[in-house]
Formats: sequence, structure tokens, C-alpha cells
Amino acid sequence: MAQQTADFIVIGGGITGTSAAYQLALRGHRVTLLERRYLAAGGTGRTVGLVRTHYSNEVTAQMAQRALGVWRDFEQTVGGDVGWVQTGALFIVAPHDLDGLQANIDMQRAVGINVELLDPQALLAVAPYLNVEDVGGGAYEPDSGVADGAMATTAYAERAKALGATILQDVEVTAICAEAGRVTGVATTKGDFSAPVVINAAGPWGARLAETAGIRDIPVENSRHQVAVFQRPESLAEQHPFIGDFIQGFYLRSETGLLTLSGSLEASEAANKVDPDHFSETVDMDFNIDMAERTEHRVPAMGEAQIRKGWAGLYDVTPDWHPIIGRMPGIEGLVCAFGFSGSGFKMAPVTGEMIADLATGDRQCPIDPHPFRLERFAEGELVEGRYSYSIMG
Ligand SMILES: Cc1cc2nc3c(=O)[nH]c(=O)nc-3n(C[C@H](O)[C@H](O)[C@H](O)COP(=O)(O)OP(=O)(O)OC[C@H]3O[C@@H](n4cnc5c(N)ncnc54)[C@H](O)[C@@H]3O)c2cc1C
Repeated sequence: MAQQTADFIVIGGGITGTSAAYQLALRGHRVTLLERRYLAAGGTGRTVGLVRTHYSNEVTAQMAQRALGVWRDFEQTVGGDVGWVQTGALFIVAPHDLDGLQANIDMQRAVGINVELLDPQALLAVAPYLNVEDVGGGAYEPDSGVADGAMATTAYAERAKALGATILQDVEVTAICAEAGRVTGVATTKGDFSAPVVINAAGPWGARLAETAGIRDIPVENSRHQVAVFQRPESLAEQHPFIGDFIQGFYLRSETGLLTLSGSLEASEAANKVDPDHFSETVDMDFNIDMAERTEHRVPAMGEAQIRKGWAGLYDVTPDWHPIIGRMPGIEGLVCAFGFSGSGFKMAPVTGEMIADLATGDRQCPIDPHPFRLERFAEGELVEGRYSYSIMG
């Protein structure tokens, strides 16, 4: 095949890559996105799709807040149906974590997030089916909600295409090519593509791909994360808020059709390391039972729920559970954006802006991506939250 050219090549058709392609096309650039399988084939297609603003450091809280504004009004801001449902979100803690939660809420409110601290009685007013006997209080975000990973990825890709981007599926990048410290393009299963700027948004495969350009030892490990699916009894609400239970280390997420999704919030899940090309994508029965027990403790009426199914997907986890978003040192023209550590879906509208800023050198996003540079690990400047009761950043 003849060599093809572009101004920007994006590797990876997940939510990160398609959002970046959209942002670049929106700014009038010639962009080609290459996806080795199909859109949302990676972590994005397995996401639970929670869009929340409960973060514990300013930069991620600001990102989540800015991203939420896009998700809530996606049809107008970007275009297309992402399956948005405003469910609200509750994050509940034990009495000994209340001070930390209050401090965190103060920080979130200072960056403009609509959140309040509820005592156990007020929690019951929002979710009367909760067991609050061991609960100190909770953060309530009425504006948060959920979106669908595949629908959102398709929406971004469609909008990017309408703006002139080329989106190619079934094209695997086999190497990122560089000469004399500069990116020259990529080699693929469908021939070579040349471009002065390449964006590596290949998620769990990103670090491996970066090695082809000589960038080694990027600290990202892939782990398998499971989602249990329960059928709620008719007696429970048609929809319930997302419930992040930091006491038991798990969550409940409302789905249509009286379904509830459930998974772990424990950092220990990251010990479940896997090869991203060979892992079980189904849920284990003992995981379903474990989540069912935690669910019944928090929502006793769920004791009548039925286990329906479940699935497993990949987290690409860094040492501080925050992504790597930045220009790669030593190779001009190479931008990486992966390692989202189980939190990349909601952030994608802002990640796309940051990637476009880094790729073009034209800063349009008000939030500086500098804290997420790869060099932070060697420099000891990790992006750390103020409190340690969960992996939620
Ligand atoms: C079970 C689960 C629940 C989650 N829940 C949430 C949540 O509630 N909220 C939230 O914000 N986040 C959540 N996440 C995390 C979120 O889904 C991910 O962080 C995000 O989807 C990652 O998107 P991505 O585009 O960076 O990577 P991916 O979606 O993995 O996309 C990478 C793409 O690159 C492609 N690719 C790889 N190698 C190549 C190559 N050589 N050439 C071309 N293409 C290539 C892959 O096929 C893939 O499509 C969850 C994740 C999982 C697994």
C-alpha cells in the first residue's frame, strides 16, 4: 500500500483517542486515527461509565468538573447520543473518615463542584433503602451520572469524521517510527503512515507500543477488573444514585432495565495482573457472590436481587493511579496519553483537549497537563490525593 500522510496520527480508538481526534479535527487539523480492532475494543467497551467529580486533588477535581459539563450537554457541546443518565452519586464513609471527607468536599466546592456533605438521616432522604448503621456521612453530587462507553466513542468518532478526520479500524500499528530524535510516522499492518506528530492513546497496549520508539520502562501495569450485574427486585427504585461505599470498598451503579452494576473499589484488585491480549473477560462466580454480600449489607432489599451476569475489563494502572499525559522525553512529536488507572472515561472530554494542546503547542484547555508528565515518576512528584480511603483519586 502506498504511504499515507497526515498532520497528526492518533493510535487507539477508545474514548481517549477518539476525543483527541475530535479535538484536533475541531481545530482544523488533518488527523488520522488508527484502531487495530474496532472502536471501543479496549477498556472503553467494558467501562461502567460513571461520570463523577469526587476527586481529592485540585487538578483532577477541576478536570472532572470541566468534563462533567461536556457529558451533561454532549448533544450540544459535541453532538450525538452518549446514553447520558443523571443518576446523582453518593460517596459514603465511616465515622472516622468524616473529617477527611469534609476537607475534600471543601476543596471540591472551591473548584466549583456541586456537592454537599449529608449525615446519615439526610442520606436516607436521598436513598431510603440504605443501611446507614455503620455510616458517618456521605458526599452527594446531584449532577453526576452515567454514560455508555461504546456510544460515547462512536459519537466522538462520528463528529471527528464530520470535521474531516479519517478513522480507520482493523489497522494495527506495529511500530512508532522515529529518526534522529523526531517522530516520522507509524508502521502498520496496512502499510506505513507518515506524520510529524503521533499520539499514543493505545490504553493497556500503550507502554508496549512506546517501546517500539525506544521509550522503555514506562511504569504501567495492566490488571483485570470485574463487574457483577444484579437484577433489582421490583420493590426498589427504578433508578438509584451511584453509591461509592468506602466502608466496604465497593460500588453500586444503576443501569436501565432494573439492573445494578457492582464492582470493587479496593486497590488490591490491581494485583490481578494480566496480559492484555490473554485474560478472562467473564466474571468469576465468587466475585459475584462477594459483591452480592456487600450489596445486601448496604441495601438490605437487594437480598432478593438476582445475579444476572457480568464481565471483566482492563485497567492500565500507574504507581500513583493517575494517567500519563505528555510529550515523550527524547522523541519530538510523540505524545502519550494512557495509564488512566480505571478513571479515564469521564475525563476524556478534557483529556482530548489536553492532548490537542500538547500535540499542537497551542494551549486552549485552561487546565495544565504538566502534573501528568511521564517524568514525574523519576522526579518523585506523584499526583497524590489528600485522603487514602479509596483508589478513586
Ligand atoms: C470494568 C471497568 C469499569 C470502569 N469504570 C469506569 C468508570 O465508571 N468511570 C471512568 O471514568 N472510567 C472507568 N473505567 C476506566 C475507563 O473505562 C478507561 O480508563 C478508559 O475507557 C480508557 O480509554 P482509552 O481510550 O485510554 O483506552 P482503551 O479503551 O483501552 O482504548 C485503547 C485502544 O487502542 C487500541 N490499540 C491498542 N494497540 C493498538 C495498536 N497497536 N494499533 C492500533 N490500535 C491499538 C485498542 O484496540 C483499544 O481500542 C473502567 C474500566 C473498566 C475496565
